[in-house]
Amino acid sequence: MDIDIAKNLQTFLSTVDQSRTRLVAVSKTKPVNLVMQAYEAGQREFGENKVQEMVEKYEQMPKDIDWHMIGHLQTNKVKYIAPFVKLIHGVDSEKLLRTIDKEAKKTNRVIDCLLQVHIAEEETKFGLSDEEVGQLLSAEVINHLPNVRIVGLMGMATNTDDQQQVTKEFRHLNELFSSIKASVNHPGVVMKELSMGMSSDYLLAIAEGSTVVRVGSAIFGERSYSA
Ligand SMILES: *Cc1c(COP(=O)(O)O)cnc(C)c1O
Repeated sequence: MDIDIAKNLQTFLSTVDQSRTRLVAVSKTKPVNLVMQAYEAGQREFGENKVQEMVEKYEQMPKDIDWHMIGHLQTNKVKYIAPFVKLIHGVDSEKLLRTIDKEAKKTNRVIDCLLQVHIAEEETKFGLSDEEVGQLLSAEVINHLPNVRIVGLMGMATNTDDQQQVTKEFRHLNELFSSIKASVNHPGVVMKELSMGMSSDYLLAIAEGSTVVRVGSAIFGERSYSA
């Protein structure tokens, strides 16, 4: 099956206001030659959910790409991506944040992170409760993590056709985002990114204020195995 990635990308970008919302093209499970088609069409931000796959693509592809870790990240694997990762979307524990800080320090970087918030009804999805987000953003925690910077929140809505439900969940995430922005005053916390929206729900997410959408299958086609 032939897919025209450049055309998919163009179609996608024509539906969004790029001054408000950026695209992270989710390239997981897709081979480098396909991902390169998006690169050649101008795309520079890519998202992966497995450390090894991200490292392999980073090594093989041009160095002006911004790599986003969008999946659940194990602490023992942080070291492999710390030297180059642009943004880690799925931070959901203090332990992970401490490890990112430690590995960032070794490579002389400050790594930008998003806290993943559990907004869906499903219990299987990862993420922090609103209260846990507040605890992680307390000075007691953040003061000790000079090599990470929290730049926003990430969330995944319930996988449902009920658009009202999805909208409600995205709206809730944006409200939490705004309240943190208004209340947390710490140099290690700069609330500017709201990562929400995937192929099935990005229009709803953008309507609720998403600044970055993570879209895979709408650009690269369906994945042949689940990831
Ligand atoms: C796979 C994945 C996406 C992209 O999903 P599509 O439905 O293919 O757009 C977005 N976010 C996360 C966290 C993912 O794992």
